[in-house]
Amino acid sequence: MSNEVWVVADLKIDGSVRQVTYEALSEAGQKIAGKLGGKLCGVLIGSGVSGHAASLGKYGAEKVYVIDNDILKDFNTEGFTIALSELIKKHEPAVVIGGNTVFGQDYFPRVAARVGAGVTMDAIDIDLSDQNTLKIQRYSHSSKAIPTQVFHQNYPMMTTVRPNSFKAVENPKDPEVVDGGVEINPADIKTRVIELETKESDRPELTEAERVIAGGRGLGSEENFKHVYELADILGAAAGATRAAVDAGYCPYDMQVGQTGKAVSPNLYVAIAISGSVQHFAGMGSSKVIVAINKDPEAPIFQKCDYGIVGDLFDVLPPFTAKVRSLVSEG
Ligand SMILES: Cc1cc2nc3c(=O)[nH]c(=O)nc-3n(C[C@H](O)[C@H](O)[C@H](O)COP(=O)(O)OP(=O)(O)OC[C@H]3O[C@@H](n4cnc5c(N)ncnc54)[C@H](O)[C@@H]3O)c2cc1C
Repeated sequence: MSNEVWVVADLKIDGSVRQVTYEALSEAGQKIAGKLGGKLCGVLIGSGVSGHAASLGKYGAEKVYVIDNDILKDFNTEGFTIALSELIKKHEPAVVIGGNTVFGQDYFPRVAARVGAGVTMDAIDIDLSDQNTLKIQRYSHSSKAIPTQVFHQNYPMMTTVRPNSFKAVENPKDPEVVDGGVEINPADIKTRVIELETKESDRPELTEAERVIAGGRGLGSEENFKHVYELADILGAAAGATRAAVDAGYCPYDMQVGQTGKAVSPNLYVAIAISGSVQHFAGMGSSKVIVAINKDPEAPIFQKCDYGIVGDLFDVLPPFTAKVRSLVSEG
C-alpha cells in the first residue's frame, strides 16, 4: 500500500469540476495527507478530462491520475466502477475520497465492494484517528445524531463528503499528470447512455448553493411557488421543496430536499411553510443558519431554526422580500 490520499474529481454533466472536489482536496490536503506524510493526488475519470489536472493542482493536488476513455464520456455506473476499482488495485492508495453527489453515491459503494475497502458516505468532517486510520463524522438518525466512525486498518479507506461542508482553499501545485493505464473492455459495460436531457436554469445547483429558499405544502399551489422563486432570485439562491410539495405537483422532484431527496448544506436555508419533519431535516439539518416562516407556532421547524417568523406567508413574505430586495440593491 502507498500512503497516497486520493480525491476523485466529481464532474458535472457539462464536464466541469464540481466545487465539492476542491473542498475535498483542501480538507484532505490540510488534515489527511499532511498527517499521513503522503501525497495528495487527484483522480480524473471521463472523456477529454485531462485538461482539469491544473485546476486540481490549484487546490493542492501534487499528482493527478487520469483515465481518459471515450467509453466514459457520460457518467456510466459500470464504466466508472471498473475504472476506479482497477486504478485502486494498481496503485493501492491509503485513502480515497469523493463527493457525496448522485454519482459518488452510486459508484463509491460498488468500488469499495470490488476492492474490499471500507466505505463511509456523506462525511461532514474527516480526520485521522490515533492509529492513523480515517475518522469521519456524519449525520445519522435523520440528522439527530452525529456519530464518529473510525476505520480498521483495512485499505484503502473510502469516503464521500457532503458538498458545502468544507472550505475550498487554494494551495497551488504543479501536479505530475499520470496516465492511469486502466483498460476498459466495452463488453463489460452493459448499459449505454442514449440521450441526455438537461434543464437550463439560472439558479445555482441545489447541492452546491450557498443559499437555499425552500417551500412546503403550505404554499398551496404551483402558482404560489413564485414567492419562493422570487426570493431565491433576489438572493442568488437555489430553490428547494419538501416531498409533500413535490408530491402535490407544486414543483419538480429535482427540488426535493430530504431523506429521499437531495442533501444540502448552505450558509442560509429559508424554510417557507414547511413543518419540519425528520425526513426533511435529514437533508437540510446541516445548514448553517435556518430561517423559518410558518403560521403554526407549534410547527416542529421552530425547534430547529435559528430565526423564526410566526405568520401567514402571504402576509409575511411580500414585505420580507421587498426588504431583502432593497438591502441587496444597497449592496
Ligand atoms: C420514507 C419517507 C421519506 C420521506 N422523504 C422526504 C424527503 O426527502 N423530504 C421531505 O421534505 N419529506 C419527506 N418525507 C415526507 C415527510 O414525512 C413530510 O410529510 C413532509 O416533509 C412534509 O412536508 P411539508 O412540511 O411541506 O408539509 P406539511 O407537514 O403539511 O407542513 C406544511 C406547513 O405549512 C404551514 N402553513 C400552511 N399554510 C401556511 C401559510 N399560509 N403560511 C405559513 N405557513 C403555512 C403549516 O403550518 C405546516 O407547518 C418522507 C416521508 C417518508 C415516510
